[in-house]
Amino acid sequence: MLGLMQDHPLLISSLIEFAERHHGEGEVVSRRVEGDLHRYTYKDVARRARQVANALDALKLGFSDRVATLAWNGYRHLELYFGVSGSGRVLHTLNPRLHPEQIAWIVNHAEDSVLCFDMSFLPIIKAIHAHCPTVKHFVALCDADKLPADSGIPGLQSYESWIAAQSSEYQWPVFDENSASSMCYTSGTTGNPKAALYSHRSTLLHALAGALPDALSMSARDSVLPVVPMFHVNAWGLPYSAAMTGAKLVFPGPAMDGKSIYELIEGEKVSFAAGVPTVWQMMLGHMSAGKLRFSTLKRTVIGGSACPPAMITAFNDEYGVEVLHAWGMTEMSPLGTVCTLKNKHLPMSVEDKMKVRLKQGRGIFGVDMKIVDAEGHDLPWDGKAYGDLLVKGPWIIKAYFKGEGGSPLVDGWFPTGDVATIDADGYMQITDRSKDVIKSGGEWISSIDVENVAMAHPAVAMAACIGMKHPKWDERPIVAVVRKPGTELTREELLAFYEGKTAKWQIPDDVVFVDAIPLGGTGKMMKAKLREMLKDYKLPGL
Ligand code: ADP
Repeated sequence: MLGLMQDHPLLISSLIEFAERHHGEGEVVSRRVEGDLHRYTYKDVARRARQVANALDALKLGFSDRVATLAWNGYRHLELYFGVSGSGRVLHTLNPRLHPEQIAWIVNHAEDSVLCFDMSFLPIIKAIHAHCPTVKHFVALCDADKLPADSGIPGLQSYESWIAAQSSEYQWPVFDENSASSMCYTSGTTGNPKAALYSHRSTLLHALAGALPDALSMSARDSVLPVVPMFHVNAWGLPYSAAMTGAKLVFPGPAMDGKSIYELIEGEKVSFAAGVPTVWQMMLGHMSAGKLRFSTLKRTVIGGSACPPAMITAFNDEYGVEVLHAWGMTEMSPLGTVCTLKNKHLPMSVEDKMKVRLKQGRGIFGVDMKIVDAEGHDLPWDGKAYGDLLVKGPWIIKAYFKGEGGSPLVDGWFPTGDVATIDADGYMQITDRSKDVIKSGGEWISSIDVENVAMAHPAVAMAACIGMKHPKWDERPIVAVVRKPGTELTREELLAFYEGKTAKWQIPDDVVFVDAIPLGGTGKMMKAKLREMLKDYKLPGL
């Protein structure tokens, strides 16, 4: 017997329809490439998203055809999120931090038909357009009068004139909720990048779960600043969750420096912000230098790489801002776990609460996790046993676009490539990326743990730990450190700082001071590049 409830497919268009009807006056504020602040409402987003849909129809784009974006976080990008997917096309967000050759490779692999780009990326488009034969239309996200006369890009038009020619009347089509809605290529630290292809259903369920109180807790009373880019994993689903809840959206555009972000938070009364640790590092630096305070920020979700404990403490103790440590990945839409406390933790001491907060958090409803040993046997949830972390759920990948790399699943589970522990309360803690763990004398040393101690030192701006070959111990950790400007930390001082903070054999063998640690397109430390940089390095005493 089937249930007798109405059968409505879960479609992205329903999000913007809802936001328009119930939160029509809800604000969307964007720092533009031009530097000024643009301000309008969900009603305007909806109207212009319908114009986008009509513009794509006018180009005779088919169902599931790909529309690429190369853009910062901003209102036009948001309109494309809804207009492209809502009309049945696939929004393909490109990462502008990749090398132009790699971007061209990705455009060709995805067979994008239209490419919409912010003017800051005109040099990239100039470099690649001749090598992207599938792209029939280039659209610059700007006003008609900002379009360069001599771009050399055939048929280039401005977004504003492109949509102005269209009606704002449009009936969103109804189709199978399992249809593809957007796609994102993984950074591809090994081999060519592969794409995760999200569906309307997976996106809606992810946005729903992400908005829950024990996840990102979004509501119509929030002013939300996604510093996480809309070009990588849909800005952690925040644009969708915001439309679903009517939260005000604040977009930083290209200005991601500490000063600009701080001013935006204060100026737009931001209550909730989301970003990777490197962004917050810059903002906290700006704040402590200028002795600044927050007046509205209540919580911030930090993920993408491990959040150093010193950052959680700084936000919490100095600024009264709750940090939600979160973990996920491109293949998971991306939310997997968020660290929020349970009732039983509330009476605990600050130190004990901190131990919980440092973990990557509990699986949100919809994400099932397990850890396994090298033979694939389940490991206990005791907070001690560590092994490969596998996940499954309705917004987790089952295959890459075009079947690249074969089936990634093992008995229906997706291996994340992370090594983790899970405790009896279900809190997961990442020990390492499986390729980054340091194997020393038959034991594993977590590079994250080594980095966290260094990051707690006041003179350290950034730290990366890697393993170096050792004839006796197999590998030994060393830590590469970028000093904060104006400080004079020595190797001996930092090594002494480890005393009593970790087991003796987990203290790194050496400290190497570097000018910068190589970061990838999504702000993660590129340890392979660091190893390459230090290829002639020899451990002390060898
Ligand atoms: P890529 O495109 O490089 O795969 P993702 O954004 O998908 O990048 O990154 C996913 C990986 O980032 C995870 O598998 C994990 O290793 C790391 N990661 C994400 N969040 C955290 C976190 N809170 N703590 C530690 N590692 C994290």
